Amino acid sequence: MLHNFGSGPAKLHKSVYEQLANALIDYEQTGLSILEIYHRTPLYEAILEEAIQLCKELYLLDDTKEVLFMPNGATWHFNLIAQNFLQQKAAYIHSGNWSKKAYDIALEYGKAEIIASSENNNFKTLPIVEQDLSGYDYVHITSNNTDIGTQFHTYPKHSIPLVADMSSDIFSKPLPINDFALIYAGAQKNIGIAGASLVIIDKAFIKNTNALTPSYYQYKNWVNANSIMNTPPIFAIYAMLINMRWIKATGGLEIMNAQAKEKATLLYHTLDNSNLFEVYAQEQDRSLMNVCFAMKDPALHHSFMHVAKEAGIIQIDGYRTVGGFRVSLYNAIELASVKHLCNVITAFDQNPH
Ligand code: PMP
Repeated sequence: MLHNFGSGPAKLHKSVYEQLANALIDYEQTGLSILEIYHRTPLYEAILEEAIQLCKELYLLDDTKEVLFMPNGATWHFNLIAQNFLQQKAAYIHSGNWSKKAYDIALEYGKAEIIASSENNNFKTLPIVEQDLSGYDYVHITSNNTDIGTQFHTYPKHSIPLVADMSSDIFSKPLPINDFALIYAGAQKNIGIAGASLVIIDKAFIKNTNALTPSYYQYKNWVNANSIMNTPPIFAIYAMLINMRWIKATGGLEIMNAQAKEKATLLYHTLDNSNLFEVYAQEQDRSLMNVCFAMKDPALHHSFMHVAKEAGIIQIDGYRTVGGFRVSLYNAIELASVKHLCNVITAFDQNPH
C-alpha cells in the first residue's frame, strides 16, 4: 500500500476519484463525458452554482462576498492582485518562498514593500508586523507556508484590506472570513486538481480596482461574468465541487480542523520525542498541513528516505530550496497513514541503518 504525503498536486479521497472517473465516462447518465459538455448549458451552470453555494455554506459567507472559480493557479493571482489593487504601494509579509514570489511579482506592477520578514531566522517562525500600515493599498500574507511548515493560526489585524494566499490550507479549518478582503488558492492541494483556482473576494474591496487593468484581468469582470470569461476548466471545477461535497458529508470544516490537529499532533510528537529527527518550524507557528523536518545528522537523510520508500511512504522530499523532508497532511490524508509513518520514524530512530 502506498502512503502519498505529496505537497501538491496532492491526494484526494478515493470516493472523489471514483466519482470523477464515472463522470469522465458518463456524466450523470447524460451519455456524455464531462469533458465534452459545453459550458453555456444548464449542465455546467448547475455544477458552478452548486460549487459557489457549497463554498458559501462551508465558510458561512454572507452576501458581502463573491466566490469565483477561475482557471490557472495561485501564481496567476500573484499577478492579478497587484494588477487590480496596487495603486500607491502594497505591503507584503515575508514568511517563505511563496510570499517572496508574490512580492517579486507585485514589484513588476508597482511599488511593493516587505513590511515584516522572518528571513533572519530562516522562516522558522512567522514575522510580526510592528509598523502602522495606513497608506498601503493592502497587506498580503501566505496563510500557510508550504515550503517551510509554518501557518498563521490567528491573522494579523490592520486597518487596511487583508489579502491571503491560502493555497495550502484552504478548506482545512473555519475562518474569520470577514477579516479578509480577498482569499485565493490554487486548487491542487486541498480543494481539487491542478488547472483551477478559487477566489473569495469582498464586494467592497472590488470597488478599489485599478481602472487601467486590462479587462480579462479584472476580478470585477469575472464577478460580472459569473466566472465564465471564456471556456472554463470544467473538469477541474467539477473536481472542486465533488471534493466540497465530500468535505460537507464528512462533517465540514470543524471536522477537517479536528482531524488535521490529530494527525499533526501525532507526527510532531513523534518527531519531537526522537533523537535523530528535528522539526524545522518553531512550535507556536507550526503548520497543521505541512510538517517539515530533517535528520540532525544529514548523513542519515538517504537511509531514512530509503526506509520510508520501502514502507510505501512516498513524496516526502523537502521543498527544493529547503531540503530535508516534508509531509503534507491535507484533508484526504488518513490518520492510519500518519500512524504508519510515525511507526517507521520511531523504528528508524531506535535502529538507524
Ligand atoms: N502559494 C503557495 C502557498 C503554494 O504552496 C504554491 C504551490 N506550491 C503556490 C502559491 C503556487 O501555486 P500554483 O502552482 O497553483 O501557481
